Amino acid sequence: MTDITNEFMALALDMKAQSTNKHRQVGAVITNGIASHNTHITRFERPETTLHAEASAICRAASEGRPTAGHEIYVTLSPCVSCAKLIIQAGITAVHYYKFDVGQPIALELLRHAGVKVNGPLEGQQ
Ligand SMILES: [Zn+2]
Repeated sequence: MTDITNEFMALALDMKAQSTNKHRQVGAVITNGIASHNTHITRFERPETTLHAEASAICRAASEGRPTAGHEIYVTLSPCVSCAKLIIQAGITAVHYYKFDVGQPIALELLRHAGVKVNGPLEGQQ
């Protein structure tokens, strides 16, 4: 990995560690400076009420008025289909992922089909 890739992924891994989700921890960093992790946005904590790290980062960028178009995203787990759609719609140009989520093979295909650069898995490449 390049130094820049290492730095962003290290931050994404730090964000992952901060997630309090009991089922799965995931971190995400957009190169516009927004860092997030998967989270429950209320006390109603069930697996299906989790906001994914990528969705959380994109929503935070929108709420803070920070552009996502032309930026890249670093995630500790390859995105699901729903997050892949958000990434495409947000104009993010590349996804760098640490681990591949075997349950989400279509998401990477969708990203590539939309012209988003996909780089990973980066686990073990430091
Ligand atoms: Zn997702």
